[in-house]
Amino acid sequence: MSDVRVGFIGLGAIGVPMAVHVAKAFDAVVWNRTTDKARAFGEEHGVEVAESAGALVKECDVVITCLSTSDDVLDVLDGIGDVWRKGQLLVDATSGDPTGSKTAAARLEKFGAGFVDAPVSGGTSGAEAGTLTSMLGGEEPWVSKAREIVSCYSKKIEHVGPVGAGHALKAINQGLLAINIVAAAEGFAALTKLGVTPSVALNVINSATGRSNVTENLFPQRVITGDWPRTFKLSLLDKDLGVALKVLEDTGIPSGAIRVAKDEYAKARKALGEEADHVEYVRDFEKRVGVEVRG
Ligand code: NDP
Repeated sequence: MSDVRVGFIGLGAIGVPMAVHVAKAFDAVVWNRTTDKARAFGEEHGVEVAESAGALVKECDVVITCLSTSDDVLDVLDGIGDVWRKGQLLVDATSGDPTGSKTAAARLEKFGAGFVDAPVSGGTSGAEAGTLTSMLGGEEPWVSKAREIVSCYSKKIEHVGPVGAGHALKAINQGLLAINIVAAAEGFAALTKLGVTPSVALNVINSATGRSNVTENLFPQRVITGDWPRTFKLSLLDKDLGVALKVLEDTGIPSGAIRVAKDEYAKARKALGEEADHVEYVRDFEKRVGVEVRG
C-alpha cells in the first residue's frame, strides 16, 4: 500500500466502488454529505470516516471528489474553506463542466494546490472491476500525480488537455451515448412492429456498422430482458447533455443531434423523475409509442 494519504468525497453509485479501490491502494479517509452512507462504508471496508470535508482535506495529500455536478463540487469547496496547503491536489472525478473546473482550479491555485478534472467512463460495473477510463484535464506536475492515484480504478488514463478538457470530452461522450440510446429506441420499436425479434436484430447489428455500447451491452442486458437496474441516473445524463450543449455553444459549433437527445432526455426526466436510470428512457419511449422491445 502506498503511503500517500488519499481522501474520497462522494459515496454515490459510482463513488462507492471507486473508493473501494482507493482504500485498497492508499491510506484512505472518506466523507459523504449523508453521514450514514459514510459510516456504513467505513464499517464495511475498515476505512476512517472524516468528521467533515474540511477535516478530510487537512489530513490528506490528495483529495478525490465524485459528486453530481461541478456546482456541488464548488459548494463543497465553499464548506471546506481555507484549509488547503501548498502541494495538495484535488482530483475531480465528477462529470462536471469546464467552467466549474476552471473556477475550482483558480480557487486552489491561491493556496499552491493543484486541480485535475478526471471524469470517468465505464459505469458501476467498470468501477467495480477497476477498469474505468479516466480523462484528465490539467497541467504538470499535477497530471502525473493524478495519474498515479486514478490508476487504482482505471484501465485507460489519457491526459486530454488543460483544466476543463476532461470534463468537455466526457460531456461529448455522453452526447454520443444518449444519441445512440434515442436512435436505438426508435429503430428497435419500428423493427418490433415489423415482426423482427429484437435479439435477432441485435445479433445482426452487433456484427454490422451500426453497433455501439448501446447495442452490445445496454439493450441485450436490460431492454430486451425487461430488466431496469438503477446504476446511472437519467437525471445525471440529462445534466451531462446540458454540459455538452454548452461546450458546443462556447466553441461556436451548431448543435443538432445532441440538442435532440437533450430534448428527449429532458422529457423523460419529467416523466420518470430524478431516480430513474438512464436506460429507462427506452421504457418511457416504449410507453409513448405503445411497443415493447423484448425477446
Ligand atoms: P449519485 O447520485 O449516486 O451520488 C452523488 C453523490 O454526490 C452522493 O455521494 C451525494 O451525497 C453527493 N452530492 C451531491 N450533491 C452534493 C453536494 N451539494 N454536497 C455534497 N455532496 C453532494 O451519483 P453517481 O455516483 O452515479 O455519480 C457521481 C458522478 O459520476 C456524476 O457526476 C455522474 O454523472 C458521474 N458518473 C456516474 C456513472 C455511473 O455509472 N453512476 C458513470 C460515470 C460517471 P449524498 O449521499 O449526501 O446525496
